[in-house]
Amino acid sequence: MKGLYIHIPFCKQKCKYCDFVSFPCMEDTADKYVDALKREAEQYRGEKIDTIFIGGGTPSILTPKQIEEVTKMCFDVFDVASDCEFTTEANPGTMDDDKIKAMLNGGINRISVGVQSFNDDELKKIGRIHDAKTAYNTICHLDKMGFQNINLDLMTALPSQTFESLKNTLNTAVSLPVKHISAYSLIIEDGTPIEKEYSKGLLDIPNEDTDREMYMHTVDFLGKNGFKQYEISNFAKDGYECRHNVKYWTGEEYIGLGTAAHSYIGNCRFYNTSDINEYIGGAEKEVIELSENDKIAEFMITGLRMNRGVSETDFKSRFGKGINDVFGSEFDKFIKLGLMQYIDGRYSLTLDGINVSNSILCEFV
Ligand code: SF4
Repeated sequence: MKGLYIHIPFCKQKCKYCDFVSFPCMEDTADKYVDALKREAEQYRGEKIDTIFIGGGTPSILTPKQIEEVTKMCFDVFDVASDCEFTTEANPGTMDDDKIKAMLNGGINRISVGVQSFNDDELKKIGRIHDAKTAYNTICHLDKMGFQNINLDLMTALPSQTFESLKNTLNTAVSLPVKHISAYSLIIEDGTPIEKEYSKGLLDIPNEDTDREMYMHTVDFLGKNGFKQYEISNFAKDGYECRHNVKYWTGEEYIGLGTAAHSYIGNCRFYNTSDINEYIGGAEKEVIELSENDKIAEFMITGLRMNRGVSETDFKSRFGKGINDVFGSEFDKFIKLGLMQYIDGRYSLTLDGINVSNSILCEFV
């Protein structure tokens, strides 16, 4: 069965580090956008779906009525499995009880909250709209309202972040009723306000070595607190891995609806326009046929991000040849260096390998 991704590209205010496609939210534009989503979804009527992920942007910026329309569309148009994992992203400072009820009544059973840090100074420096207390209270409230599967997103290597503040953030995170934690390092993207401040020397951002140490501490601390690492930046309690994201990492098919969304079906990737007006106006998708080499490279790069790595048997059944015939010399080299391992028919990165994952993964392209 396929996964379904729905992009909601609206945000209350642009975070200083963000280079995603997102726009200020006007209710009438969002109404037209929801209509455009419904029109696009019709192309896939009857498709069997077992994961849905509403991402953004900030999906929780929609009104309760718009949330209801989007969730209803999923069940009206698609053949949704009874045990479907149905996630929405949400940001503290954009939610109220009517929205939360609309999410729960609409069948959403997993919520991913963009917290980033429990330190007010760090939140301010990256331009988040909420403070630490609002984020904390939001998660407690979502739990009380009935969400039993909550993810919390964190960031490391933030401006002025110290080991002590990271430890406080992690302590607070594991004290909350959450089943999953994602932790990504801040990346300074060209052209963002944070890049301008950084290049003027106005921000004190942890260097690469400190970032690595913060990452290693995060992996160790979360592991000791019951959040098992299953992907480079993702940690979950037993049985709570994000099934939707695992589809991306294991090369399964998915349908993407909305501006800047893409789909992966058969041998093709389908790209929607990043221009919201063109999307609302019904712009055609761009279609790119993937070569066998493209598919192999993607399978390796995403699969090796997961702790369980890539399986010889899966590789053989997908590509009709042995993984060792293609990557034998790379495996030999990295296993000798202690950066990869071979266990029970699977190749995966070791902890040292995860530390230099970018340079290893490049060699599988
Ligand atoms: S909430 Fe997310 S998508 Fe919106 S501006 Fe911030 S980082 Fe970008």
